[in-house]
Amino acid sequence: MTDVVVIGAGISGAACAWELASRGVRTTLVERWHPAAMGSGWSLAGVRQSGRHPAELPLARAAVDRWAALDEALGAKTFYRRQGNLRLARTAAEADVIERLVREQSAAGLDIEFLGDHDAIRAVAPAIGPAAIAGSLCRSDGHADAVASVQAFVAAARRHGAELRVGERVLAIEIAGGRVAGVTTDKGRIAAGAVVLAAGIFGNELLRPLGLEVPLALHMVTVLRSTPTTRRLDQVIGVANADCAGRQEVDGRWRATSGVEPWHGELIDGDAPRVPCAAEALAGTVSKFGALVPEFRAARIAEIWAGLIDLTPDALPVLDAPAAAPQGLVIGMGFSGHGFCLGPVTGAILADLATTGASEFPIAPFGLARFGAMRGSAEPVTLHG
Ligand SMILES: Cc1cc2nc3c(=O)[nH]c(=O)nc-3n(C[C@H](O)[C@H](O)[C@H](O)COP(=O)(O)OP(=O)(O)OC[C@H]3O[C@@H](n4cnc5c(N)ncnc54)[C@H](O)[C@@H]3O)c2cc1C
Repeated sequence: MTDVVVIGAGISGAACAWELASRGVRTTLVERWHPAAMGSGWSLAGVRQSGRHPAELPLARAAVDRWAALDEALGAKTFYRRQGNLRLARTAAEADVIERLVREQSAAGLDIEFLGDHDAIRAVAPAIGPAAIAGSLCRSDGHADAVASVQAFVAAARRHGAELRVGERVLAIEIAGGRVAGVTTDKGRIAAGAVVLAAGIFGNELLRPLGLEVPLALHMVTVLRSTPTTRRLDQVIGVANADCAGRQEVDGRWRATSGVEPWHGELIDGDAPRVPCAAEALAGTVSKFGALVPEFRAARIAEIWAGLIDLTPDALPVLDAPAAAPQGLVIGMGFSGHGFCLGPVTGAILADLATTGASEFPIAPFGLARFGAMRGSAEPVTLHG
């Protein structure tokens, strides 16, 4: 018997398990493969407020505050660096898009500035080539290490007494008398008074038998990662139309992503899930990111993978203990390509919902009921780190 079962050790589930355990709640974190095996490990790991939907901005700002103190709180390195996010324009039309974004987000109180020409960009990021003719800079954005951050949450949760069960797949959420009673896994049964579903793109497999579903369109993004090289770029780089993004990690490895394409549906199951990526996407990323950061073209690519994006109809997540769900069920899914940054706050919200049924964070826009019968997605994916 445990108080809460958390399904999925991505950043959402791991952060939630840490929050729960550190509040003295008996917590069991169940992970099908290993921590950060999916979205959180595949991520560019940008910690970004700029470009956020107004509903998400308060959460992103609260998350950025938390990231600054996280290494100390978790007793481990997340490699978080507050070094800015640059969103670049390559055409006059893209510059207009970015200028509008800066106006709107400045009005919302964000420290974001418009860089009106290439010289202004080079003054803050000398590695950026002449293809970038304008951009926005949010100095309080940044990045962290994707895998190290999740591992830090998991280790801290365990130190507070959470049980971690890896290589164990939850097969069903059990219901008794209209409320959650635990989960059935491929290894047995875990009784619990509450279940937090943070299983990323697989969440619907467990919701559908309960008559619930988060409408998701699944997309894929290809990522290239180089060997370590001299550090030349501090900021995370995005572009106005989101057809590439990238950054340099703390040890100098480049991590560059493609734009978004529909997922072909193939996932190779092994020690970790792998998504085969399209050769064309690799070439496109080298060409597009290489045009922005010319020295990326000389990088030696050590790893290539594709990651999946769980896009909801409004590109906002579900953070909810829905009234239509059995009592004790909490859902944290559908982060639509920008859930890594939110992790520390997502964890707190999911833990609040699991223990009290409410949260002081402004989560009204993230209820499951908002979708009604809506399916598919009307929103473009905006992957900007
Ligand atoms: C290429 C790429 C770049 C990105 N860049 C950024 C970025 O720069 N900034 C940003 O904020 N976001 C970014 N994102 C999005 C971000 O990575 C995700 O939104 C976030 O990591 C989601 O975390 P999660 O914990 O909710 O889900 P996940 O990390 O997907 O975790 C879900 C976990 O549940 C486990 N699981 C699934 N089913 C079961 C089951 N039945 N039983 C047990 N365990 C199960 C999985 O193995 C997995 O570990 C990016 C995503 C991708 C793919």
